[in-house]
Parts: sequence; structure tokens; C-alpha cells
Amino acid sequence: MTTVQDWQAKSWVASANEAGCGFPLQGLPYCSFTSEDNRSVRIGVGIGAEVLDLHALSGAGLLASLGGEVVSACCAAQLNALMGCGPEAWRMLRGRLLELLGEGVAAEQREMVAAALTPVADVRFGLPVAVGDYTDFYASIHHARKVGSLFRPEQPLLPNYAWVPIGYHGRTSSLVVSGTEVRRPSGQYRVAGAEAPVLGPTRQLDYEMEVAAYIGAGSAMGEPVGVTEAEGHIFGISLLNDWSARDIQAWEAQPLGPFLGKNFATSLSPWVVPMEALEPFRVRLAERENGMPGPLPHLQEGGDARSGVNLSVEVYLRTALMISDLLEPFRISAANCRELYWSFAQMVAHHTSNGCNLRVGDLIASGTVSGSAAGSEGCLLECTRRGVQPITLPNGEVRAFLEDGDEVILRGFCEREGFRRISLGECRGIVRAAVV
Ligand code: MN
Repeated sequence: MTTVQDWQAKSWVASANEAGCGFPLQGLPYCSFTSEDNRSVRIGVGIGAEVLDLHALSGAGLLASLGGEVVSACCAAQLNALMGCGPEAWRMLRGRLLELLGEGVAAEQREMVAAALTPVADVRFGLPVAVGDYTDFYASIHHARKVGSLFRPEQPLLPNYAWVPIGYHGRTSSLVVSGTEVRRPSGQYRVAGAEAPVLGPTRQLDYEMEVAAYIGAGSAMGEPVGVTEAEGHIFGISLLNDWSARDIQAWEAQPLGPFLGKNFATSLSPWVVPMEALEPFRVRLAERENGMPGPLPHLQEGGDARSGVNLSVEVYLRTALMISDLLEPFRISAANCRELYWSFAQMVAHHTSNGCNLRVGDLIASGTVSGSAAGSEGCLLECTRRGVQPITLPNGEVRAFLEDGDEVILRGFCEREGFRRISLGECRGIVRAAVV
């Protein structure tokens, strides 16, 4: 039997075994989709260039051994019910899928599973999870420092950063799936030198390259989740673009946090990569810099805790002109999640430390992922030093912030010698002109 531990196993789905394919048997990310053949919304699993329809798989009786609760959860349109079945059910379903998609499956079953496959190219993705609450953190110290240096050159990093995972409560009504167009927001901002603000389309539209974790197991109100148990509450991860209007944000966020400068749209990749698929890529977080204190006891992980993920994230830009000239998207920057200052486990522990309960389907985002090196800035604010040093694209176009028609593409993947590549897929969005 194929097990979760078999990192070399192959699938009978040929496209999954191709070198460089980010959707091998070991990945099996979840999604929500519709297809031409089947108009109803289904949950599915990515394998090679195909999506496996879990509703169809249940209908064929192939999941019956997992029990009625899991079978009915697999017939839902989004992942919430499945997540609510709990970590043991997630493991069992994954084990069953590894069995059914593995090379060793009986010919008869293989035929039934093959009937439940649809080419990825033929499906339309929806949001995989109905998100309840959304929290966005600020876990990259490199991002915090570089952004801080723009506004407070004398003290880029505020003293609390070393101790407390900073975050804000986001909004779920404007979460959209990759591929959804994003309308340039209008808002109130004050142009440098002016006395009074104006209302108008943002002049400083930006992206934020982030990774987000879905809470699969909730917690009780009043009961903090310990940092060592926190990972057990996470179902899987996705890419997230926290679109930001910097001029609106700068004007409104005095003295409170982000509001209309960010809640007009947040894009999510369609795939949720289960934590088990990331096991070979788990690492200790990058060592804290000299002089940085260790965390307080409730955020203290064991010395050998592999709470980080060796996960590369990249952001690409393709302007309207590049699209019409059939030019490839241009990579603006690349960073790695192992360089975050706080792990998702620490974010969960901190989030619940005051007794705030988490619910199935909550979303916790990392904040902009930036690295220490040049070329690893996770947003244009950092890249262009607040628009002062615009970037020049290969076709000669220049960008300080995003323009209408620009497409932003986030990509994420895990790679390690001797293991299959695991892709998080893409999170795309094209900017459209403001309504005026
Ligand atoms: Mn953010």
C-alpha cells in the first residue's frame, strides 16, 4: 500500500510523474471547481494535469471505507465540512487517495478513478473554503524593517516587533479566487504638499506576496492553543495577494491599522496544499539575528521544531502591453518562507493567547514575505522605495506602482534534492480601471 511516507511513489496518471511537474502523487492539493460536464460545484484534488472529482469518487463508492461523514463532506462544494471532520479524517482520506492514484491500484478501480478525472485546463476554480475570519500578520522581519525604513529611517523596526506577532483583522467578503479581475479602488488620500485630502482612484496600487494557512480544526473560546499543538489546527496552505492602496492606507491608518486601503480585494490561489505534503520541506525558521530576544514562553518552540517551510514564493508582472505582445510575465522578486520571523504555529498560538477562538475555515496570512537579499522584496512599496525608484521592465516600461491592465502572478513551490517538486500553483489577478 502507498503511504504518506513514500516520497518516491508514482501515479498511474502519467502527467503526475513528469519531471518538474508540481502536482505529483505526493502533493494532492484540494480545490473547489466546476466543469463543462458537471455544472455543480465540486471539491477536487490536483494530480498531474488533472483534477480528481471527489464527489464522483464518492458516488462510485470508492471512499465508503472512510465512513459516512467523510463521504458526505467529499460531496460538498467547498472544503469546510471535510476540514471539520478533523485531522485523523484528513490523514485517512489522503491515504485513500494515495492508494487510488498510486501505481499499485487494481485495474478495475483505476478505471473508475480515471472516469472522475477532468483536465485542469477544462475547469473553473472557485474559492476552496468559505472563510469565516481572516487575519493578516506581519511575520517577515525583512519586510517590516524595509517598510519601516521608508517611514522612520531613524528607527525602522519598532521595539515591539521582536516580541509580538503583529497582525490585523481582515475582511472576508472581498476574498476572491485567482483569475478574478481586481477593480482599482477609489478612496481618500492626501497628496504630498496638499493640505486637504481628495477622493479618487488610488495612485499607489500595490500587491503583497503572502502565504496563508487555513484553520481546519477550531479552538474553544477562552482556551489558548499551545504553540506545540498549534500546527495540528492547520489544514493546509495557499498563496495570497493582499492588494494594497498605499496612499489610502497611509492617510487612514493614523493611528489605527489597515482598513479601506486593503479590504477592497484579496486574491487566493485555488489550491490548498495539505500540511502532510510539505513534510519533507519542513525546516527550522532562519536563526534570529544577533541581539534579537528569544520569544516569550507561550511562543517558544522546541529547539528542534521544524516550524518553518522551505517554500519559495515569486511574484511576476505582465503589463497590458506585454500581454498583447505575447511576452512572458517578468519575475520581479523571489523570497523564501523559511526567512519569516514568526512561524504559523506561533501565529496561531499568539492569536489564541487571549482566549480568542478560531473556527474551521478561518484564514491566517503571513503578511508580505520578503527576504534579506536584494530582489526578494514582496511588494512594490519596498521594491521601488515608495515609488521613488521605479523598476524598468525588459520591454522598457517603467513601474512605480501598478497600472490598469497589469497582471500580477504569485507562484509558490517547494523543492528539495531527492524529492518531488510540490507546487502551490498560481494566484493571478489583472487590475482594471476604477469606476469613476
Ligand atoms: Mn498584508
